[in-house]
Amino acid sequence: MQDSSNIIHTLSSETINQIAAGEVVQRPSSVVKELMENAIDAGADKIDVVIQDAGRTLVQVVDNGKGMSAQDSVKAFERHATSKINGASDLYALTTMGFRGEALASIAAVSRVELKTRREADELGSRVEINGGELASQEFISCASGTQILVKDLFYNIPVRRKFLKKNETELRNILNVFQQIALVYPSIRFTLSHNGTSLFSLEKENYRQRISSVCGSKTGKELLPINVDTVLARISGFVSTPESAVKKQPSQYFFVNGRYIQHPYFAKAVQLGYEKILPADVKPQFFIYFDVDPDKIDVNIHPTKTEVKFEDEQALFSIIVAAVKEALASSNAMPSLLFDQEDRIEIPVTPADFSTLKTPPVTHNSNYNPFSSTRPAHASGSSFAAPHKQSVEGWESLYDSVKCPPANDDPAPFEAVPDVAADLKPQFKGFVYGGKYIVCSSDAGVLFVNSYRASVRVAYDRFMAMLSSGSSSGQMLMFPEILELTPLENSVFAENRASFEAVGYSFEPFGPTAYQVVSVPSMVADSDAVAIIKENVKDSESKDVALELKERLVRSLAIKSAGRTSVESAEAAGRLTDELNRSSMPAFTPDGLPVFFTLSIDDIKKHIG
Ligand code: ADP
Ligand code: MG
Repeated sequence: MQDSSNIIHTLSSETINQIAAGEVVQRPSSVVKELMENAIDAGADKIDVVIQDAGRTLVQVVDNGKGMSAQDSVKAFERHATSKINGASDLYALTTMGFRGEALASIAAVSRVELKTRREADELGSRVEINGGELASQEFISCASGTQILVKDLFYNIPVRRKFLKKNETELRNILNVFQQIALVYPSIRFTLSHNGTSLFSLEKENYRQRISSVCGSKTGKELLPINVDTVLARISGFVSTPESAVKKQPSQYFFVNGRYIQHPYFAKAVQLGYEKILPADVKPQFFIYFDVDPDKIDVNIHPTKTEVKFEDEQALFSIIVAAVKEALASSNAMPSLLFDQEDRIEIPVTPADFSTLKTPPVTHNSNYNPFSSTRPAHASGSSFAAPHKQSVEGWESLYDSVKCPPANDDPAPFEAVPDVAADLKPQFKGFVYGGKYIVCSSDAGVLFVNSYRASVRVAYDRFMAMLSSGSSSGQMLMFPEILELTPLENSVFAENRASFEAVGYSFEPFGPTAYQVVSVPSMVADSDAVAIIKENVKDSESKDVALELKERLVRSLAIKSAGRTSVESAEAAGRLTDELNRSSMPAFTPDGLPVFFTLSIDDIKKHIG
């Protein structure tokens, strides 16, 4: 007897398939991803992707891979049909692209699919048509070896899903993202992508660096520093951008694990941290980082589309990434080698505890890198920060090397070095100022061009930083104290950071509930600027997401203001400035990451004039 109060019924297999399809096939880009991954798994070295109407009407993927037998070409569309796994344990091994055996079934459930495939050894290939999951036809045909799949009219049988698709530009952007994510992992595979008859990509077989150039632009490709670390947790390779090619908007930031693109905000932070102090917080480095990990050490099943992966020891990897990025920056000329002893560079720390010992060099004087010398000091096997003073004096000898080729007569006159107090200790500085702005001098590495303004910013920044950490402020009393008036909110930020202001030379007297008399200011900056700087910094802190500490920003703005007042016209001034720069912990860049100098090496010169 029929009991109308029974409400449970079994869903039809069509509905089940459509629900399952919803997980795999969310939008046209999911189809592109699944089909490209299948082609890669089939061993193809040429894959062509053809799109119409952002994938709504057609996604076609043609490969030259191993193809399928006639029987498999039908079986492939059955749910849980896969040639790639045998049991549940395989699910955890991320060695092939697909492992669920449901992509083709899901795609076929929500579109009209036409498949042509032939194995090389077979004389005839197979052509299969499936509409909304129902086999419509199968026949033998002659076709190229490999596989060709056309997915037409996506979601034709599920109007609701069709409605959820975004504008064509958005769907196409998603497709491009997926295509790029895959192309960046397989530089040895030729890929093409076309949309509505227009070719968007045509990628030849190339190496990683070239592929990054072809996909992300030649500018990005040119400015890459290699990363290479082998640890017990993972092998990490790839590239990070030079500080100069970091960008404010839409950086190319890619992580790949065992050949798949993943998102990993935590590791992205680690990379950013590697650029600490050489990039402002709002400028993002670009990176292409490839992990090779034992599949046991990752959990790929935390996200349905598998773009998130959980690593076994993420904290340790975090530290390894920071260290690897710093090393890449250091071992190129992009950044002075401060934190790493070149000789033991293989020993990247594997635990955060180890890493902490590398984090802050105990001295502010640079020991490992001398911009004015090509020869890095030989490293004692113990501390890499030993004997900074001696080495910086050695640096001088090269800086004061005479300019081998004096400037021509119509150049600005080379200034005569004016002996200073220490003149008897040092050879004469034989550089000159060019264009009122650049200090030109020679070094072992070649001819140096120093941007004097940027050098002043770097030097002033270091000085303020040293004051902050030593507490040895040098303030200048104001003849007419200025009044600093703050809003209650500003006042709370100010109160919290008052010690930092005082540490660089400010002092204050109370002047009402939220106002102060500024009695003294840092002696390196002008009075009027000084009060403005407090205001600026306190104000900026109101916006919640300021990543830089107030202290850091304060010192940056003080450095900029103070550098604005330094003029480098005389030999003395140039000498003093380069002297201080030479002792900086990071002479190559301003605190905002702008290059301070560049070297025209003897090789560069030879290239031009023999
Ligand atoms: P999975 O990739 O997870 O195995 P799919 O539904 O994507 O599941 O594919 C099912 C099977 O169809 C694959 O295991 C493979 O044997 C076969 N197949 C799919 N695409 C191709 C292709 N382009 N070339 C050769 N075989 C393919
Ligand atoms: Mg697959």
